[in-house]
Amino acid sequence: MTETTSGFPLIFDGHNDTVLSLLDTGRSFFDRSDVGHVDLPRAREGGLGGGFFAIYIRDPGISDKPPADSSSVDTSMRVYGDESTWPEPMSLEYAQATALDLLGRLLQVEQTSGGKAQVVRNAAELQQCLDGGVFAMLLHFEGAEPLDPEGRALEAFYAAGLRSVGITHSRRNRFAQGVPFRFPHSPDTGPGLTDAGKELVRQLNRRGVMIDLSHITEQGFWDVAALTDAPLVATHSNAHALTPSPRNLTDRQLDAIRESKGVVGLNFHVGFLREDGARNAETPISRMVEHIDYMVERMGVDCVALGSDLDGAVMPAELKDAAGLPKLVRALADRGYSGEDLRKLAHGNWVRILSETWGA
Ligand code: ZN
Repeated sequence: MTETTSGFPLIFDGHNDTVLSLLDTGRSFFDRSDVGHVDLPRAREGGLGGGFFAIYIRDPGISDKPPADSSSVDTSMRVYGDESTWPEPMSLEYAQATALDLLGRLLQVEQTSGGKAQVVRNAAELQQCLDGGVFAMLLHFEGAEPLDPEGRALEAFYAAGLRSVGITHSRRNRFAQGVPFRFPHSPDTGPGLTDAGKELVRQLNRRGVMIDLSHITEQGFWDVAALTDAPLVATHSNAHALTPSPRNLTDRQLDAIRESKGVVGLNFHVGFLREDGARNAETPISRMVEHIDYMVERMGVDCVALGSDLDGAVMPAELKDAAGLPKLVRALADRGYSGEDLRKLAHGNWVRILSETWGA
């Protein structure tokens, strides 16, 4: 049953930073907590059936201490307003060691879940989890720093379940460059793919690993679009026309995603939702609906999904955490989205794009 007790479709979400939150806080995934945004009890309450679990490698020297208050959970990631403050790209050895630690924590969740949570490696497993009430975890890299240019680490991480790679976070690496957190600003903030980045796109295509275009510069976006053989996907970004953050997508980018029959996941971070870009949790759920409306009007209901950034960003207070997800679905239903539309937005479009990108 891909439906919850509320009658709403089950949600499969395009982005969370829950692994990092579990490590930082030491909390269990299986006990209800007031810290962070996602654990299994809150997921069940909110009709969250799973999602993309990001492996994000902090820059060396960033504190592992948990944030003082859960409304600012993204303090563990250094936020760069200006490329001039960017650190040198991290070493492959550091990135791989850190990725292994995060990956191990995710696999521990699966191992200790007693069958309640599973790392999904193909579309059939994803669908089975959603149908069978097993929490579905998709292993995603938010930044390709742990991958070597020769593709050896890709094989190893693929074997462990890696099925989605965002080439950069909001910084520079050997493959490409991400957008800094400036506001207001266009996403056209720097160069695109390096030669190693172009080779990475070919390797990911060959392996059927999804490429995520959230965070990359606009030039990087177009470079990937010209090279890739898969539909274009931005797992957690919004409409630049409504919120002029470089993390959001211009109309031209949205049109290219539509033409490729790709998907954009709505990011719940208030700074990417609000017109003023402020990190102000007093942001109504209606603003999330406005971004969904805009993207659906521009791309059609088959190209829009959810990419919450739970455990990695400042959520609207009205939504709060995973348990609050039905409030968003209710607002979309009240706005006039049909049951079939809601199914697509909640999980159907992710299932479609992943089946197409991963292959049978
Ligand atoms: Zn992100």
